[in-house]
Amino acid sequence: MEKVLTCEGCGAPLQSEDPSRAGYLPESALAGGKRICQRCFRLKHYNENTDVPLDDGRFLKMLHEIGQKKALFVKIVDIFDFNGSWLPGIHRFAGRNPVLLIGNKADLLPKSVNKDRVVQWMRSEAKHLGLKPVDILLISAEKGYRIREAIEMIDYYRNGGDVYVIGCTNVGKSTFINRLVKEIRDEDTGITTSFYPGTTLNIIEVPLEDGKTLYDTPGIINHHQMAHYVGKRDLKIITPKKEIKPKIYQLNDGQTLFFGGLARLDFLKGERTPFTCYLSNDLLVHRTKLERADELYENQRGKLLSPPGEEDLDRFPPFYRQEFSIKREKTDIVFSGLGWVTVNRPNVVVAAYAPKGVHVFIRKSII
Ligand code: GDP
Repeated sequence: MEKVLTCEGCGAPLQSEDPSRAGYLPESALAGGKRICQRCFRLKHYNENTDVPLDDGRFLKMLHEIGQKKALFVKIVDIFDFNGSWLPGIHRFAGRNPVLLIGNKADLLPKSVNKDRVVQWMRSEAKHLGLKPVDILLISAEKGYRIREAIEMIDYYRNGGDVYVIGCTNVGKSTFINRLVKEIRDEDTGITTSFYPGTTLNIIEVPLEDGKTLYDTPGIINHHQMAHYVGKRDLKIITPKKEIKPKIYQLNDGQTLFFGGLARLDFLKGERTPFTCYLSNDLLVHRTKLERADELYENQRGKLLSPPGEEDLDRFPPFYRQEFSIKREKTDIVFSGLGWVTVNRPNVVVAAYAPKGVHVFIRKSII
């Protein structure tokens, strides 16, 4: 029987078909006798952590397994897509273990935003979603904002034990761990310098000074966000890279906003109201009359109303319409992965459109 070659780093069977799966190694390297997968190679040489996502079933299995351990759970969410990146049910898996909730990408929020209020909002949202974290922190892994506090909190709440970092893909888990390892290198903080892939497939181990370990676990893909419906080039447009500059529109009922050609919001009923849009600065918002909106969309999608560009239109699913009756002042209408629009007055009725599959919902305003 042919022997399956496995990676010397993580133990995954080596393969050259799919770079996003574990054990990937380019064919030439495999033929050349290399026995370490690309991910472990990068990790070893550049301290670069490249997560390979798990499918939902394996992810649940992993959570079940780590839930049996006694450890601190550090749950990371993306503050730009808080609900989409939430990972429901963690509190059930964590059992009696403490969960530290970290919101990442704080640098995307407008500077004027009161960060303490966002933390309060995270607390009330977490409670609503069934989680009672021991603490909550808002950080920017990329900019290094509040990384020290994160390290201190982790060290405090782990109480001499192990740590599991969990989160879905793209929340910035790798950036966080890399930042953490860099930050604490050569310092007496309880975490040592070495950083190597563990032998358990996909779980990366950072040894701690007291013999305990910080485990970086693989995430799952958040399927309900806009990212899955656009091409690579458009993804660059819709993903904010720096501080979001909110765009405010004073609307009368009977007016419509288009977010490129990716989503649409109709103001159906209510007094004149300011709508504040928190989206990537590169995404154009187009205002029109509701009575003209269908025709405009028909004629201008892929042109004035883009992304998606004309070449991607046939792959872009039709819009799905949902009506929301907003009772509370300051309510967000969230288009998962695209951003949100804050409605600043109560008693407003709107219709929101996005491709079916993209989660659209309302929540108490984050800002
Ligand atoms: P992972 O899949 O959770 O490991 O996420 P990555 O660390 O690969 O990050 C996903 C994306 O988010 C990358 O494009 C990062 O550059 C970006 N990212 C990570 N941390 C931050 C942050 O603090 N702020 C911003 N603006 N982007 C971040």
